[in-house]
Amino acid sequence: MITELKKKKNHYNINNKARLGYKDTEETKAKRIEAQKKYYANNPRLGEKAARWNGGIRRDTKGYILIYKPEHPFCSNKCIVLQHRLVMEESLGRYLRPKEVVHHINGNVSDNRIENLELFDGIGKHISYHFKLRREEKC
Ligand SMILES: [Zn+2]
Repeated sequence: MITELKKKKNHYNINNKARLGYKDTEETKAKRIEAQKKYYANNPRLGEKAARWNGGIRRDTKGYILIYKPEHPFCSNKCIVLQHRLVMEESLGRYLRPKEVVHHINGNVSDNRIENLELFDGIGKHISYHFKLRREEKC
């Protein structure tokens, strides 16, 4: 009986700690991302000064063109933005919200001409559009 009570107490404490720790984790996460961005922006061996960077342009394994842009407010934690999103932003004259999706009309993800791009205001709409097209893999 006593051990059961002890167990319960410990269990409660652990849960409470986890709950208290949650906020810290989120804060730490944000700090870590900020630090990483600074690191990539300032480190001469990484980012735009690295040999593998061709004017800050790179392709990922799926063929998407990536741009090194540490000043972009929605860049990844490695300071990278997808080129088709930048093209869409330029034509709209505003930043895309993270939920917005840019679709490649002809399915060629490296064809980032504005006439090949279509904006969807949510991931769900984009997916259902692909279901209609029966072309799920290409974006
Ligand atoms: Zn798509």
